[in-house]
Formats: sequence, structure tokens, C-alpha cells
Amino acid sequence: MKVETIEKHRTLKEQLDDVKLYIDGQFVDAESKETFENIDPFTNETLNTVAKGDKADIDRAVEAAKRAFRIWRKEKQKDRLHYMYKIGDFIEKRIDEIAEMESLDTGLPIKQTKKQVARAAQNFRFYADMVKSHLYGEAYQVDEDFMNYTVRKPIGVAGLITPWNAPFMLETWKIAPALATGNTVVLKPGEWSPLTANLLAEIIDESGLPNGVFNVVHGYGETAGASLVRHPDVQLISFTGETTTGSEIMKNGANTLKRFSMELGGKSPIIVFEDADLDRALDAAVWGVFSFNGERCTANSRLYVHENIAERFIQKLKKRVENIVVGDPLDDRTEVGPLISKAHLERVKNYIQLAKEEGCDIFSGSVPDQRFVAPTLLLNAKNPMRVVQEEIFGPVMAVLTFRTDEEVVEMANDVKYGLAAYIWTNDMKRGHKIAQRMEAGMVWINSQNVRDLRIPFGGSKYSGIGREGGHYAFDFYTETQVVHVAIGEHPIPSFGKNE
Ligand code: NAD
Repeated sequence: MKVETIEKHRTLKEQLDDVKLYIDGQFVDAESKETFENIDPFTNETLNTVAKGDKADIDRAVEAAKRAFRIWRKEKQKDRLHYMYKIGDFIEKRIDEIAEMESLDTGLPIKQTKKQVARAAQNFRFYADMVKSHLYGEAYQVDEDFMNYTVRKPIGVAGLITPWNAPFMLETWKIAPALATGNTVVLKPGEWSPLTANLLAEIIDESGLPNGVFNVVHGYGETAGASLVRHPDVQLISFTGETTTGSEIMKNGANTLKRFSMELGGKSPIIVFEDADLDRALDAAVWGVFSFNGERCTANSRLYVHENIAERFIQKLKKRVENIVVGDPLDDRTEVGPLISKAHLERVKNYIQLAKEEGCDIFSGSVPDQRFVAPTLLLNAKNPMRVVQEEIFGPVMAVLTFRTDEEVVEMANDVKYGLAAYIWTNDMKRGHKIAQRMEAGMVWINSQNVRDLRIPFGGSKYSGIGREGGHYAFDFYTETQVVHVAIGEHPIPSFGKNE
């Protein structure tokens, strides 16, 4: 495929202002006045500069969020939720514009970012609806004279730290439940794709949300991110990113006893049994690893196909891979775009080189030029290889075969991650049985990554701690308080009454 013109990238670039921080209702420079460059992954040109927030900016943002919490927590529920619906509506009105900026900034194909942005609007409405319908507490009558009841209360300042892949959707996924339950927020977005966090700040600003309730501090993880984690007035950290970063954050937050939610890396298996609907399994395997450029935590980056159907299935897979359209992320026809950065591209290419050295046969589709990584299959892979064990986070799938159910369960579980698993079989008894044996937070049987917002999302083992989504998010963003009430003459031991 020919690379499309880069005119559109340049036109969009001309519309961009530099990216500022959003603190206490104002778009401001970093106190240090320092900035860093934001690069278009398709043209490799600088799009604009980004304010490089640091400890001083985090301190300002947390201070604003702490002040705002006193007002926000007292806001009537209907008024608080009114903002949520308004933000959802504003996002929906700007889906095309936001999706375009997201694709420009991340290299993710426009058709795919449009769906993600639509989902972001739903996040705000969903959590607003859920606050209204959620059971907020329980009451227990101990006896005639005594009762207890529990209430769910907001916690305070929520520190949200997000990655560069799917930034807008992942950010709103945390922001919406945090705000809807009455917390205030300081967001530290991924440094490689900062644009849409500021579109969201604009939208939130227009919604009239009180100053300081929502703040954005851009900057590097080791400085801005770490300062947020260490801040004594931040009560919780919701983090999505790499496993090693998650572990570092838990260490840094330990002194101030933070509550953590950790959504981390993955190396998820897709298992295709010989009795599966092979056409649908093929669609799922291809979409599941090559959509979103493979820069997706739940990507099915390990394919296990039964040896009796392997040859036929892999033949078809190769044909698909050859036909995948790689190119300009702003082009509607593009299925795989450029990876987020040159550094990440080199990292993924190094893994493909490593796969060769480890003994895989490499099968790749075609690319317009060196700016892209071709959709790639690592054929004849073996479970102990590094390319089967480690998260590559690109359009690369290791292909393995298996003979027995026992063997495939063993191999699928034999990695440190446990985010997702996909099972393809028409024998439902087998499907459920294998699902039970998967060491994964989420298992899909005969489907691919569809998820209702009520359903928990998250991983086990090195893929995370806790769950996002549905009432699981409510549990995370609220504190349970119990109130003990004497409603009669409840006996109290009397001390010091003896004369
Ligand atoms: P990353 O861990 O490098 O960075 C994520 C965020 O953490 C960024 O905002 C970064 O600035 C910040 N950060 C880095 N070091 C920090 C520190 N010491 N203290 C505080 N913050 C710090 O991850 P990434 O490369 O941006 O994203 C890709 C990773 O995210 C992949 O491993 C992917 O699987 C994972 N991910 C997981 C999920 C999930 O839900 N499980 C979803 C999307 C992405």
C-alpha cells in the first residue's frame, strides 16, 4: 500500500496549541517553564511542545484538588451527576475531532479511535447512572436497642496515572468513577500521547465543573508521576501501565499508605481447539493481536492451535496477515498504523530479531516503509522462548501448537502474566472447564474482548491488582464508614461509680 499524503497531519498540526497543565481551572505552564516535544509517530515531526510538570506542579495540583474536595464532596448528588452527563454529551459532540487528535498523537488507526472515544462518552454516563442506582450502604439491627449502618464515602484526592496507548479511553475509565463518587482528581497522562487529555480538560472546563475538582499535570513518570505517588495528601493511586512501573509505584507509595489499583501488562493466549468455528476463531485471532497496532494490554499475542488443524489454520492466518493494510493512521482504510515512537519501534523490531535467534520462522506482512512494523507471526515458537514469555506490545503473535487439553493449559499458564485468555471450541463443557483452569483475570469463550461496562476488568499474577469497571470501581473509589447508633437504653459498663 502506498503511504498517503502527510498533508492532513500538517493541517492538524497547525491547529494545535502547545500543551499546558490544567490546574485549579487554569491552563498554565510548568513552574520551571520547561517543556518537552510531542512527536507525530507517522511523520516523525514535532507536533507541539508539552509543559513538563514536576514536583512543584504536582504540589499545586494536589493543593487545588484538596481544597476542591471540601466543596465537591458536599455537592448534591444530582448536581454532581449533572456534570457527568454534560461531559458525556460534550465528548459525544466532538468524537470525530477527538478521534483525529488521538490518531495523530498515537498512530492508532482512526476507525478504531472513533470507537474508543465513543466509549469514553459512555463512561461518564454509565458511572452517573450507576451512582444513582448503586446500593450505597447496609443497615443491621443488632437488637431492639442498637443498630449499625454503613455509608460509602469519597476518599479524597485520587491520583490517576495512565499510559500512552488508548489514552483518552483509559483516562476517562478512571476519571468518571472517581468524580462520580465525589473524589477530586489529579491526572498524570502518558508522556508520549498528551493531546487528548487536554481536549478532555477543555471539555471539563466548559462543563463548569468547579475549579480544582479535575487537574492534569503532564510530565515524565520518574518526576511528575513519582511526586504524585509520594504526595501525602493523595489517598489513592489508580495506575495503568507496565508491570515494573506498577511495582515501583507500590514501593514509592508505601510510606504514605496509598490504596492502589494496578492494571498492568499481559501476554494473553488464544487457544483454538479442533472443534472450533475456525472462520470466527481466525477473525478473532487476527483482530485481537493486530488491532490498535498490537499496542494493547489484552492482545492475544500467543496463539495455541491444535496440531490437527494447525497447518490449515496457519495457512489462512498468513493470508490475512499479508493483506492487512498498514499505513497512515488518519486514513479510514488503515488497519495498522505506525507504533507510538521510534524507540518503541526499535524495541519491537529487536524482539522480532530475537525470535529469529531463538529459532522461530518469521512471517511478516508488508509495510510502506521503515517507519512501520509489519504484522508478524513468530512461527514454530516454543513456550520457554523470551518472545513467548515477554510482552512485546506490537503487531506480533507467537504461534504454537498443542496436542492435549492438559498440555495447552500447562503452556497457556506458564507465563508470569495473567490478564486475559481466549478459548475457541464448540464443546461448551470443555470451554468452561478450560476457562476455570486459566490463570487469567478475564476469559472469553468464542468471543473477542467485548465487555459490558458493568463487568470487572483486570488481571491476576503480574498483570495487576484489583478490578476496574462496574461496582468494583465504586469499591475502589469509596471508603466504607460504619455508624453505630443506640436507639434505646443500650447498656454501658459503669466505671468509677463506687464511692
Ligand atoms: P509505563 O509503565 O511506562 O507508563 C505508564 C505511566 O506511568 C506513564 O504516565 C508514565 O509517565 C508513568 N510512570 C512511569 N514511571 C513512573 C514512576 N516511577 N512513578 C509514577 N509514574 C510513572 O507504561 P506505558 O509504556 O505508557 O504503557 C504500556 C504498558 O501499559 C504495557 O505494559 C501495557 O500492557 C500496559 N497497559 C495495561 C492495561 C491494563 O488495563 N491492564 C491497559 C493498557 C496498557
